[in-house]
Amino acid sequence: MNHRQAVIITAPSGSGKSTLVSHLLEAEPRLAFSISATSRPPRGGEQDGREYYFLSPDEFRRRVDAGEFLEWEEVYEGRFYGTPRSELQRLRDAGRVTLLDVDVHGALAIKRSLGDDALAIFVRAPSIDELRRRLLARGTDSDGEIEKRLARADHELQFANHFDATIVNDDLARARAEIEEVVGRFLS
Ligand code: ADP
Ligand code: 5GP
Repeated sequence: MNHRQAVIITAPSGSGKSTLVSHLLEAEPRLAFSISATSRPPRGGEQDGREYYFLSPDEFRRRVDAGEFLEWEEVYEGRFYGTPRSELQRLRDAGRVTLLDVDVHGALAIKRSLGDDALAIFVRAPSIDELRRRLLARGTDSDGEIEKRLARADHELQFANHFDATIVNDDLARARAEIEEVVGRFLS
């Protein structure tokens, strides 16, 4: 009997997590993405109920008080993110393994509650300088946002060795193959 429930992916912003998550969702039909809730406004092109459930800060707090999140974090000042329990239930009912994209603390909290039923993967860029280059090249964040994300990356990197696996996203094709291999092994 297979109890595999969740694959959790964490990475400092700009490390290539979204790129690798999209790849995994295409390559591995047993996985389905857990849509988080957030109090941050949508970035260009993001749709409510696709990338995130976008909530007002008041509505976010109401759901925290009602116990609707498996875990939640203030990832950046005034910006809340949480995993709705209803998402995991929805995907479990559909017979899928949940793919979660959460920050380090959310990942370690979910890992603690699911144990061996979860695989926690940390994705990192080869260096902080390369991370800065990618954030600048992506062109979706202001200079101030980029500095916040780099400071946060420094903090997150300290937790990398608590994860089940680390993928260094240097050469993209190699990183894709590696993450596919690690997830494939966990699922079978
Ligand atoms: P995240 O989801 O971790 O914030 P993205 O997937 O948006 O990161 O990647 C950040 C930027 O870096 C994007 O512009 C992406 O195209 C680029 N990128 C991703 N992987 C690589 C790689 N291996 N080498 C160079 N650039 C990459
Ligand atoms: P972004 O604003 O770039 O979409 O996401 C910022 C950070 O919030 C990322 O590190 C992302 O993994 C994290 N995040 C997204 N959803 C959740 C969630 O539900 N819980 C936690 N703890 N972090 C999340």
